[in-house]
Amino acid sequence: NKKVVLKNYVTGFPRETDMEVVTDGEGFKVPPEGGGGGVVLKNLYLSCDPYMRSRMSKHDEPSYVPDFVPGSVITGFGVGKVLHSDHPNFKVGDFVWGMTGWEEYSLITSPESLFKIKYTDIPLSYYTGLLGMPGFTAYVGFYEISSPKKGEYVFISAASGAVGQLVGQFAKLMGCYVVGSAGSDEKVDLLKNKFGFDEAFNYKKAEDLGATLKRYFPEGIDIYFENVGGAMLDAVLLNMRLHGRIAVCGMISQYNLEKPEGVHNLMYVVAKRIRMQGFIVFDHYHLYSQFLETTVSYIKEGKITYVEDVAEGLENAPSALIGLFSGRNKGKQLVVVARE
Ligand code: NDP
Repeated sequence: NKKVVLKNYVTGFPRETDMEVVTDGEGFKVPPEGGGGGVVLKNLYLSCDPYMRSRMSKHDEPSYVPDFVPGSVITGFGVGKVLHSDHPNFKVGDFVWGMTGWEEYSLITSPESLFKIKYTDIPLSYYTGLLGMPGFTAYVGFYEISSPKKGEYVFISAASGAVGQLVGQFAKLMGCYVVGSAGSDEKVDLLKNKFGFDEAFNYKKAEDLGATLKRYFPEGIDIYFENVGGAMLDAVLLNMRLHGRIAVCGMISQYNLEKPEGVHNLMYVVAKRIRMQGFIVFDHYHLYSQFLETTVSYIKEGKITYVEDVAEGLENAPSALIGLFSGRNKGKQLVVVARE
């Protein structure tokens, strides 16, 4: 069984060499010993997600997800095929998505956390992104946290990524004016010409972020979907409208810093009566089937499009994961372990 293990806890920017691809010589027995109640998955697609960076460090205070353990296999969201099941909800041949290992075969001892894939006529890799955790994050963050209304002005950072590309399309479907920022001209082109954003800009080329936002939003921003934090958040706070909402989904610009940057313009939250709300998608799983039905209809009606960035093979999983932190991914980053 080939697998990716964490070699050591990470401080600062993660490197490929912080992980190692190893093969344990014994192979994988099906049914596995001591696997009572669990299911065995053949892993097909693995998801690379920014939150995994936090799990690579050692924390004194427990976070909402546990730290990885050096020497042990990395875990994350993925799509797999059931090879063996001791659980009544799953049978051999089912396709599922949920928490699995970065390895060829995994024994899942708590299969209650897995979702059985209902629509197998849609590419299964989509369940690492558009129809999986990141897409669901976009849905929850936009509809539940941002209180959107038709015609409102919406700004999204890291807009071409797994979450951002879908937030923008949901916002357009609601009739909002949508602008996104991204880190390359190619991504800006995707936002405008593939995902249908009204405008987009390359934040790395913007000399003054505050002035740039002012140009795109002369009347201010109603909703900011926050994915990056840092200087962008400060620039947004200057440009928010009265009673604006900030859905704080993530702050990737801070994940590799030893000490997070300060936010200077937080006082605008008071003056502009802004509601700024963080959320974690895991708290909202009761809405998953509602999200799934809505989004599958949009896909089938051709109202939503999707871009993924596919790395081939477990060997390339470490570089795919760390690529998220330099913006190397164009769209949702995933790793193919096997296609069937
Ligand atoms: P993406 O697919 O958007 O990939 C990450 C992107 O972040 C990169 O491509 C890069 O895009 C951008 N980025 C990387 N480093 C920086 C930096 N220093 N400053 C600014 N941008 C940077 O990731 P996801 O869509 O999966 O995740 C987006 C955000 O959502 C993350 O903050 C993540 O932690 C959060 N999240 C939160 C969840 C929740 O439950 N709250 C659940 C899932 C995700 P670019 O080239 O444009 O810079």
